[in-house]
Amino acid sequence: MRFYLASLFVFPPGFRLRLFAICFVATNLPLLAYVGWGAATGRLALAGFLLLLLATAIGMAVALFGIGAMLAPLPVAQAAPAPLSGTGDDVIGTLLGSVNRAASAAEARMRELDLAAKEDLLTGVRNRRGFVADIGDFLPAERRGTIALIDLDRFKALNDRFGHDEGDRVLRDFAARLSSELRRGDLVARWGGEEFAVLFRGATEDEAARVLARVNQRLIDTPLIMLDGQALTCSAGICGFGGEALDDVLGCADKALFEAKQAGRNRIVRASGGVQPVLPRA
Ligand code: GH3
Ligand code: MG
Ligand code: MG
Repeated sequence: MRFYLASLFVFPPGFRLRLFAICFVATNLPLLAYVGWGAATGRLALAGFLLLLLATAIGMAVALFGIGAMLAPLPVAQAAPAPLSGTGDDVIGTLLGSVNRAASAAEARMRELDLAAKEDLLTGVRNRRGFVADIGDFLPAERRGTIALIDLDRFKALNDRFGHDEGDRVLRDFAARLSSELRRGDLVARWGGEEFAVLFRGATEDEAARVLARVNQRLIDTPLIMLDGQALTCSAGICGFGGEALDDVLGCADKALFEAKQAGRNRIVRASGGVQPVLPRA
């Protein structure tokens, strides 16, 4: 390592140039010794000198070519961090193996972190960032359907009564129940607190409202928890999504959700108006 570092200072910049300088010095040492000996003894023969010069020049070229060929995998590895096959178990092969392992581990860790950053730790569904990122990844033609913002009713009272841990359990169970009602392509996310967002892909407001009515009906038929003798319910605002700016559609769904709360909770309000199913309380 010291020699390598010293070569940075002593020889010209650039790896190949440094190799050339080392080869030059190494292969010309006999020549220099011969010239020195010839000068000292006065027995320097021109023919012998030229022959030796030619021999060292050829030796240097061969050495340079050989070393260059031996180091050829390094630039390849630099250009393509993907696993390289066909390297031996010499120092270069071992080095490339380590580089590949480190690169694969870093890539896997990046994937894990990216996934974790998009996931809600409590419920296991997407978080707000993941929801927005996933929709951003869709092709423009796929960015259509209906978006719903869903908020659990009187959740603060539930927390106050049963404690935060029980509140967390309800959030987890609600997320699982909501997910189980959705189709494979739909997206569900915990938008924050006790609020969830859903993209019903390719669905009309009618279809989305039917699914959410079913969710609320199940909350009543098989309550996740009872509060003051009534099953926990949710309210939702839904808004058609035809490829407009996502923020605008979310704002529209949020406005509809606000109306659902104002109207007495446990209902689904469509931004475009229409039926607002109010479910009978358990
Ligand atoms: P509304 O019907 O109008 O939505 O009333 P609400 O009580 O559900 O709404 P509010 O916004 O007043 O309260 C939301 C509560 O959700 C307050 C907060 O303590 C609770 N909450 C937010 N995040 C979490 C969480 O991660 N775990 C638990 N257990 N509770 C949470
Ligand atoms: Mg609420
Ligand atoms: Mg809320």
